[in-house]
Amino acid sequence: MLNIRRRLSTASTATVLILSCGFSLVATSSLAADAKLQTLPPALLVPGGVAVVPTATQAAEAYYQNERVLLGEYRGEQYAIVGIPLSAKPGLQTFTLIDAAGNEESLGFSIQDKAYTEQRLTIKNQRQVNPNTEDMVRIRAESAEMNAAFSSWDETLEPTLTMTAPVAGIRSSSFGHRRFFNGEPRAPHSGMDIAADEGTPIYAPAPGIIRSTGNYFFNGNTIILDHGHGLISLYCHMNTIDVTPGTKVELGDQIGRVGQTGRVTGPHLHWSVNLNNTRVDPAFFLSE
Ligand SMILES: [Zn+2]
Repeated sequence: MLNIRRRLSTASTATVLILSCGFSLVATSSLAADAKLQTLPPALLVPGGVAVVPTATQAAEAYYQNERVLLGEYRGEQYAIVGIPLSAKPGLQTFTLIDAAGNEESLGFSIQDKAYTEQRLTIKNQRQVNPNTEDMVRIRAESAEMNAAFSSWDETLEPTLTMTAPVAGIRSSSFGHRRFFNGEPRAPHSGMDIAADEGTPIYAPAPGIIRSTGNYFFNGNTIILDHGHGLISLYCHMNTIDVTPGTKVELGDQIGRVGQTGRVTGPHLHWSVNLNNTRVDPAFFLSE
């Protein structure tokens, strides 16, 4: 028989509802190890935010919108650290916990709407606003390549949820801005822009492994840095990339330099942080 439970509880970090119990639809892999967390990020239950949900159980795996979720142990308790997409609708969100025997249980959290500001930018290169057919082929291939890196799951790394800003510069708080390029609506801004002079060093904000590098149509010179358990950061528009895929980096190692490659209006670092293949506001992870 399946282990069927129904609970309702309130915790300090998030309102948690166990909604229903499912049947075991997927076979779980061998017992996954929780990340050992030194800190928890602040929770903010809005699109683009982070839910920090005590599981009150010992789940082996968790999934939200078909993406694997970071499960971590903090002070003896298990938490799911769930990235909430900018596209999430206000109201109840559910995710699935799977125990070692393959039993499923649904957990929920409620999110509120957040009105993100509109941002209008002028791009001189019209092709960077309306790419031609050839560009679209390149963009699709690059997007698949980056998505594969963002979906990576590495349990040999212990993710650090407190990071140091990767570059000294002027931080914008433009995460989530609804963007218009030359008056045309485009995807919302999914990272933090840090303005700095071309050539300013960029440092790893936390330890990890360089998962991939590339020169991309929109993002320019790009690094994807894997911190483990689905916590993955992205660095774009760089002048130089100073690392190669597979390189292990420590906090503070130089990974590249600020540039203005790809679709930009000036030199800056575009930095994004992903949980469960979802771009969330990097400000959640900054200690200062
Ligand atoms: Zn940006």
